[in-house]
Amino acid sequence: MLKNVLSYKTCADCRICCSFVKEDAWESPVFSEEDMKKILALGIDGSRFQEKEENGQKIYTAKYDFKTDSQILLCPCLDEKSGCMLGDDKPFECSIWPVRVFENKSGAYLGVASACPAFEGEKLEKILHELKENGLEKKILSMKRRLNKVNKEAEGYHIVDR
Ligand code: SF4
Ligand code: SF4
Repeated sequence: MLKNVLSYKTCADCRICCSFVKEDAWESPVFSEEDMKKILALGIDGSRFQEKEENGQKIYTAKYDFKTDSQILLCPCLDEKSGCMLGDDKPFECSIWPVRVFENKSGAYLGVASACPAFEGEKLEKILHELKENGLEKKILSMKRRLNKVNKEAEGYHIVDR
């Protein structure tokens, strides 16, 4: 969805959003039951995920065993050579990175992760323009139901004006 402003190669060379330290492990994607079926069919080790129940639905998140605060661990769906093993079936939240949907009492809104090296300075202006002026914000918010989880936390994000 962000191909006008973010190339596949930039992400393939970076992969920050598929790797986590203890503090930002909350950013790790949430998988639905449907996602988990695909994950297991790909031969990814199911013991690397934990099951939870939220709003009556089963959801899954990666299990990370951080030994130190600075240790970086990879999402179990990441192949270090070829990238995300889920391809086009990755969770919606991963397909819109570094944009994330948040929700509070006033409604849903978007943020752009400040940790993303592709969007600093002028490039940040470019993605904000794409979101606001070229309709991308509306498009993402209209697809919000595809998210497995909407976060309330927006620390570390450039909030897109509503
Ligand atoms: S942090 Fe930004 S550049 Fe890096 S992989 Fe994620 S979206 Fe791509
Ligand atoms: S599911 Fe794929 S895109 Fe999402 S964090 Fe894991 S490896 Fe990265």
